[in-house]
Amino acid sequence: RFTAAIIGRPNVGKSTLFNRLVGQKLALVDDTPGVTRDRRVHDAKLYDLYFSVIDTAGLEEASEASLEGRMREQTETAMDEADLIFFLYDAKAGVTPTDKMFANVARRTGKPVILVANKAESRLADAGMAEAWELGIGDPVPISAEHGLGLPDLHEAIIETLGEEVAFAERDAREAEADAPAISVPIADPDAEDQPAYDATKPIRMAVVGRPNAGKSTLINAWLGEERLLTGPEAGITRDSISVEFEVENRTLRVYDTAGMRRRSRVQEKLEKLSVSDGLRAMRFAEVVVIVLDATIALEKQDLQIVDLIAREGRAPVIAFNKWDLIENKQERLAELRERTERLLPQLRGVRAVPVSAETERGLDKLFDAIFRTHRTWNMRISTGRLNRWLEGIVAHHPPPAVSGRRLKIRYITQAKTRPPGFVLSVSRPDALPESYQRYLINGLRDTFGMEGVPIRLNLRTTD
Ligand code: GDP
Repeated sequence: RFTAAIIGRPNVGKSTLFNRLVGQKLALVDDTPGVTRDRRVHDAKLYDLYFSVIDTAGLEEASEASLEGRMREQTETAMDEADLIFFLYDAKAGVTPTDKMFANVARRTGKPVILVANKAESRLADAGMAEAWELGIGDPVPISAEHGLGLPDLHEAIIETLGEEVAFAERDAREAEADAPAISVPIADPDAEDQPAYDATKPIRMAVVGRPNAGKSTLINAWLGEERLLTGPEAGITRDSISVEFEVENRTLRVYDTAGMRRRSRVQEKLEKLSVSDGLRAMRFAEVVVIVLDATIALEKQDLQIVDLIAREGRAPVIAFNKWDLIENKQERLAELRERTERLLPQLRGVRAVPVSAETERGLDKLFDAIFRTHRTWNMRISTGRLNRWLEGIVAHHPPPAVSGRRLKIRYITQAKTRPPGFVLSVSRPDALPESYQRYLINGLRDTFGMEGVPIRLNLRTTD
């Protein structure tokens, strides 16, 4: 099992996250006067990940008020004992000079660091999320430790950072002992060599975005038709964020937020008070984002910029062209909308766009199909063997250009991450590989492996 440390300046929410990971009981015990904490390493669990977390929050209280003293203790402990660091900052407050100082120290430990943007449920967190790059630790994982949001993404980040073998060591040991069967269902891809399982038992987390009157609430209400609703809208652990679960074709879907869930019922009226978010915020906790566009009005550039934003945030976009019942020349209009979408979103070739009528509920099955497929593609992993056999062919077919008389060499490709798929390409001169050639490779990946419609990231590295 691995050990994690939570590092960050005071008040970013370290103890709240700590308590989430180790369970509430411990916090109660610790609040009792006279009970001394002598254990500094506690059992933690995040879904099926079992690990230890070091109680640096306790350390912080114990140490003298000096910030440097606290920082030193946190990082020394992390250096000695942790295999992994959660670097926490407060997205609502934004990146502060103290955060930067702590981040430098965290990086210097040389341990793997996951950047965690806490309090991301807040409307005020937008700027703070965008500032994350100033910390130099990579893309942040948005969470709300207090409301328990974003934890699935943290789960994924841990697996990505440590690798499945390390991350799941304890789970696998437990399962072996209990002789329990794994719950995952393998992807039905006969070509796959070492494709890990795609877990179809987990809910697909969704958000719905779109302009006012595009039909978001109508669509969500259609989804939640009596027979589908699993659990009523509930505040759950959260005050200002909500989700509802429903079931389609044996899959559970969870919709976060949204402004779209207003009106109609009394529960929903109550929700309106609870929920202040605008869909884009719910997007941070979603895997698939459905963009509802009113097909009766002109498709504006701005509409597609939202789709691009969603893709840049690494979410899986699906477009719903709504109010299709009002369209007269359906075939023509669809061709026109799709053509415009593809032209304005070349970076997202094959993005799924489905005509629906939220009002008459036509096309909903196709929309679900698009959601399932997009989610699966977004989770896809291709073996290094297959990738490199493909690379050899595509490079031979159309070699990269020569730069100052020397041909660029592309040596190797691996998939470094999923959700969305991210690849590392080893190139002789990364700075010189033209954008157009990168697009050629990305489109090749889409064609060969069926990775249509999801963002694909390509990282270039030098060949050592
Ligand atoms: P929201 O602001 O995006 O949540 O939009 P609403 O769901 O409140 O819908 C705005 C208006 O469009 C309402 O009058 C709906 O009845 C209507 N509407 C929504 N979906 C459809 C549809 O598929 N067809 C038609 N004809 N009207 C729709």
